[in-house]
Amino acid sequence: MLNLRRVVAFAKKHIVKTAFAIAFVAGLLKAGEEDRIGKSEVTQIFRQILPDLIPAISLKPVVSNKRAWPDDSMMDPKPEPATPVQVDSEAIAYLLSQCEALGLSTKLEQLYSKLESEASSADGATLDSIILPFLQKFLDTQQPPIHNPRVRSFVHNLILAYVKGYVQMEPTQPTDWRRAAKGCGCADCRQLDNFLVDPVRETGEFSMAEKRRNHLNSKLMSGRHGYGFAYYVNRESEFDISTARVGSPHTLVVRKTDRTWRRVHDEWQVRADKAKERLKTLDGIKVKEVLAEMGKEAYEDLMQLRLVKLAPAVNGAGNRR
Ligand SMILES: [Zn+2]
Repeated sequence: MLNLRRVVAFAKKHIVKTAFAIAFVAGLLKAGEEDRIGKSEVTQIFRQILPDLIPAISLKPVVSNKRAWPDDSMMDPKPEPATPVQVDSEAIAYLLSQCEALGLSTKLEQLYSKLESEASSADGATLDSIILPFLQKFLDTQQPPIHNPRVRSFVHNLILAYVKGYVQMEPTQPTDWRRAAKGCGCADCRQLDNFLVDPVRETGEFSMAEKRRNHLNSKLMSGRHGYGFAYYVNRESEFDISTARVGSPHTLVVRKTDRTWRRVHDEWQVRADKAKERLKTLDGIKVKEVLAEMGKEAYEDLMQLRLVKLAPAVNGAGNRR
């Protein structure tokens, strides 16, 4: 005979940990499905632990923070780094489907909203490695035709979050020579910045002693570029820099290019191609069915990435190198 009170007390004690919460629920529901526990008992345990459970359920990557004992350092000089724990997306998908089967609609809504908000704020790597695989598992638990409007909007919102957050908007080709300022604020750098932010000047010439030219050179080569793509670190300069060794002092010649945009765009293209392939691995029939309900544009917008592509006219403008 199952001691419900003890099971609930045990669960409540440990359930603040996402990994435990997910494993516990998966085990509980599986035991119910296999008739090892009566359905009414599963429902009872479930109802009692859900208030504690919902805050613990998460699609965010879990990092186990094994706390090292004070004397650990004597036995093992290198403490183990925190290791990411794989989120069990199958268990979360199962949990949602069982909430639905048990008619726990208020709790279900809380979970849907929480997972949606996690997806819409997740970084690209999490969307690709956790959210999309979860969506695949979730669709597997749904029986077509999918009538439930909340399930439909949930699927729609997760695909939307993936496309917007993982692929992101196609980078716009610069239409003029305006570039981000890079100077340190000194008088020479102010000269440099005036040139950099000038939308018309493609080439700038700075005649000055070697030390000062080197200072400008180092500013041009340093840091991140200025189109607002947070991940990109400058590997290849977006400037052609040379020194004209005629006259005295010599002249630093700086020519602006579109290289940074080109590279950022190449990276976007790689993500876009990968995303299209990944989206194809979702259950196509169910996705079509869900998105058809979201308006006739929704399928093309999301699955063909139209939502994050620039109109051809905008992107093709100017063939400047
Ligand atoms: Zn400076």
